[in-house]
Amino acid sequence: MAGGGISKVFAQMSPARGMLDAMDCLFCKIVAGTIPAKKLFEDEHAIAILDINPQAPVHVLAIPKKHVASLAKTDANDERMLGHLLNVVRELAVEQKLGNGYRVVINTGANGGQTVDHLHLHVLGGRAMHWPPG
Ligand code: AMP
Ligand code: ZN
Repeated sequence: MAGGGISKVFAQMSPARGMLDAMDCLFCKIVAGTIPAKKLFEDEHAIAILDINPQAPVHVLAIPKKHVASLAKTDANDERMLGHLLNVVRELAVEQKLGNGYRVVINTGANGGQTVDHLHLHVLGGRAMHWPPG
């Protein structure tokens, strides 16, 4: 079958999940290439893009290709995917020259400040971070 944008979105969906979630999802569309983003990394399971509204000199998002709404929606079967994302983050940090340190954030749910309902890891660096966060 031809690999158009929408068929790529379908390809990311697991049968157990409603189709509408992925079809409506901003990061699924970025993964599929139907919405543009500055991609820093891509492999079979994940991409990393520049955040459109950076909160630090370096602000990258590591995003699984599979549509998962949030960390709260993962389970033990996602262990490899979650570990892989952390490996991607570590390699990105080296590539982005964040040897002085960086912060990895997973906003989860309403109180966590999550605004895009597709799991993603923020990688923030290039300046000193504050604690506690807001
Ligand atoms: P969160 O609030 O944790 O769900 O993070 C969502 C992040 O996605 C925010 O930091 C946004 O700036 C970022 N974002 C929203 N739209 C885009 C886009 N089109 N390309 C890149 N980053 C985006
Ligand atoms: Zn999605």
